[in-house]
Amino acid sequence: MNLIYQMQYKFVNLRQKKSQKMTSITNESAQALHDRLRKANNPVIVTHMKPDGDAIGSSIGMYHVLDEVYHKKSSIAIANPIPSYLDFLADESVSKDIYIYEERAEQTRRIILESDLIICLDFNAFHRTDTLCVLLEESTADKILIDHHLSPDSEKFVLVFSVPQMSSTCELEYHILKSLPCIDGNVSALPHKTCTALMTGMTTDTNNFANSVIPSTLMMASELIAAGVDRNMILSNLYNRFKESRLRLQGHILKNLMKITPDGVAYMVLDKQTLKEYDVQEGDTEGFVNIPLSIDKVRMSIFIKEDDSYARVSIRSKEGTSANMCSRLHFNGGGHENAAGGRLYMPKDIADITQAAEYIERHTHIFMNNE
Ligand code: 5GP
Ligand code: MN
Repeated sequence: MNLIYQMQYKFVNLRQKKSQKMTSITNESAQALHDRLRKANNPVIVTHMKPDGDAIGSSIGMYHVLDEVYHKKSSIAIANPIPSYLDFLADESVSKDIYIYEERAEQTRRIILESDLIICLDFNAFHRTDTLCVLLEESTADKILIDHHLSPDSEKFVLVFSVPQMSSTCELEYHILKSLPCIDGNVSALPHKTCTALMTGMTTDTNNFANSVIPSTLMMASELIAAGVDRNMILSNLYNRFKESRLRLQGHILKNLMKITPDGVAYMVLDKQTLKEYDVQEGDTEGFVNIPLSIDKVRMSIFIKEDDSYARVSIRSKEGTSANMCSRLHFNGGGHENAAGGRLYMPKDIADITQAAEYIERHTHIFMNNE
């Protein structure tokens, strides 16, 4: 029988008694995780396609725990490469064990199918791993989920840590790791590289403490800084290392491409020609979708980027408007209440990228007016 812990996390309130703190994480579930990590022979860590800071931070954080705490050699499998703004987390101690399906399909397939324990991080359903999905379906290994998205596909896992209120998977992983019997609340017993990786992913998923921050997020940050994590190093790697062309592109988008509908929906469509003109690499447009929310009348922001047979969609919304629902209903995706993603397929949804604006205007009008 599946052992499932869907934890209803009680927000950590400094005024609450210690015993009320996340008892559902700390005891049985942490012990169950500990036992499985301890017994694993070939653990593999898997995260979602087109990985972001939370995906990479939680994966590399777990890799170093397996290495330094459990003395296990593990591998990380991802459909697509790590974006360059996160490469400071993937030093040579870990990069040799990272398998990118896009680059090494056969080896990636082999490590997944030979694994006896697969730790799934920062996604709620196998299809979010793109090319790894069929391998996860084929694998008979026990699988563990640690994630903060709504509606996890729980029956696929022997152990589920799912707390949608959490700022990030990195934050959830941090609380879980602290609760492991071998760590027992002692942050300094966590590998330093794990602490740096988890701080990084929490920082990117909260947009540097702008969204989804709960009391325990700040406690985590405080404890990690006290334990020696270099936040200035993380911030300068994340936010002060871009190419000039990225900032020029941002200017071009805001001046020429951003449109705002009468319903308060801002949208920006980046076609392949513009992507080429500004030499846009994976990760370069991270965060652009948030910018229009700074405008008073904007309730929701949509960023569209042309890909081969589809356009990638990023949606962010202010409180009272559901990015998740809009994506599910109109953009073939989902995510969190105020941050979601999806796709527009070509030619199924739109004939080509020039039709995206009309599609967005029509569908968001329906959505914003509950028609
Ligand atoms: P982003 O806009 O940063 O790509 O994604 C925002 C959030 O939506 C992330 O938490 C991500 O996991 C989720 N998300 C992105 N794309 C998809 C998608 O195609 N389907 C679902 N269900 N969630 C997505
Ligand atoms: Mn996340």
